[in-house]
Amino acid sequence: MGEAKTVHSLFVTCTFMISIFTLCPPFVILLWYTMVHANGSVLQTFEYVEKHGLQGLKDICPAPSPIAWKIIACFGAFEAILQLALPGKRVEGPISSAGNVPVYKANGLLAYAVTLVTYISLWWFEIFNPAIVYDHLGEIYSALIMGSLVFCILLYLKGHLAPSSSDSGSSGNFIIDFYWGMELYPRIGKNFDIKVFTNCRFGMMSCAVLAITYCIKQYEMNGGVSDSMLVNTVLMLVYITKFFWWEAGYWCTMDIAHDRAGFYICWGCLVWVPSIYTSPGMYLVNHPVHLGTQLALLILASGLLCIYVNYDCDRQKQVFRRTNGKCLIWGKAPSKIVASYKTEKGETKTSLLLSSGWWGLSRHFHYVPEILAAFFWSVPALFNHFLPYFYVIFLTMLLLDRATRDDDRCSTKYGKYWKTYCNKVRHRVLPGIY
Ligand code: NDP
Repeated sequence: MGEAKTVHSLFVTCTFMISIFTLCPPFVILLWYTMVHANGSVLQTFEYVEKHGLQGLKDICPAPSPIAWKIIACFGAFEAILQLALPGKRVEGPISSAGNVPVYKANGLLAYAVTLVTYISLWWFEIFNPAIVYDHLGEIYSALIMGSLVFCILLYLKGHLAPSSSDSGSSGNFIIDFYWGMELYPRIGKNFDIKVFTNCRFGMMSCAVLAITYCIKQYEMNGGVSDSMLVNTVLMLVYITKFFWWEAGYWCTMDIAHDRAGFYICWGCLVWVPSIYTSPGMYLVNHPVHLGTQLALLILASGLLCIYVNYDCDRQKQVFRRTNGKCLIWGKAPSKIVASYKTEKGETKTSLLLSSGWWGLSRHFHYVPEILAAFFWSVPALFNHFLPYFYVIFLTMLLLDRATRDDDRCSTKYGKYWKTYCNKVRHRVLPGIY
């Protein structure tokens, strides 16, 4: 088995691990409490905790209830069945450092459509009211926090006892193995890819389901949906539609092709993504803001533009790689660097690095529209409270860190060729600034 490598220094890794293990679970619950029961005001939650102390904190924490477990189990099982049963094109992921080529079934967009139609139909035909999900959200998050922890322990055991491929290994340190993961492509049987399930079919899919839930809850409470909620929901759904449209491209990104299946990525996708990414909508449910048509349309158009630019950045790189550079980028032949590298087995391979189009503006320009899109689906909450902007701030930190991690990884992989790329495209994220 190969050695599991950590990209951060041991100190940074440990700081991250300790903060995530200890702070993230209570943060998810406090965020839910503040959005739903404390008017989105951090100060109000702080005053409550100050007044009631530890017992007050305990009272805030909802215990996972049977209905919460049922909702999670039904959703998880439904998505797993769709992942296995729906038809889709056979797609190959990028070759791993151990020389394996993972094979996937590209049925994400179909699964997304089936999920949304089913969920809305359940409401429309009065079989299940999505407002129940909002009413039990705290219990659902508690159950998710615990269930996902158990899931990660099972992943760790599987990595040791029954790895699915040679892309797995131990660092020799239990905490690092648990946190960063042991396997790159863990599977159940030959076809059920666990990271596709956690990251795409559970994580991203639940964001869409929650966005619709918040809209329906507001409708059921007020007999209508505010323009701020509509803008937030439309932008989130367009973003998630783009995600599933491009899901096979996502399988070539760092999350899937480089980060192993551990607490960091799997717990993050199972708990953090649904709770944090949808938090502006969670706030808007009982704080409807009236934006007015002009402002609503302006925010909507700006958000849609950002989602498009982010998509186009990813698309440009994907087309460039797929055609081996034989394509047009912004109407011209692409400018490129032919970079060679050695695999773990010592074979020499080459990759092409695109240095024109969006990828000539900065090395991670695609993160700029990603952050701006998140800003535009948060800004319908306007500026009464800071908390609806937590996701944007978190995302900015995540992506700046990711840009550094990716640069480090590519520099190790491509050596002098990466240096040539950095000399040609000097800025990491913001053209001319950073
Ligand atoms: P990228 O899609 O940027 O993939 C990085 C990899 O692309 C590198 O490791 C390298 O891999 C290759 N690469 C780097 N530079 C070039 C180049 N100039 N030409 C060709 N290939 C290059 O990574 P991400 O996974 O970070 O982003 C994918 C998408 O996901 C983005 O749209 C991003 O905004 C989004 N995202 C969203 C997040 C969220 O929480 N909302 C979090 C993270 C990402 P190789 O080894 O193949 O050379």
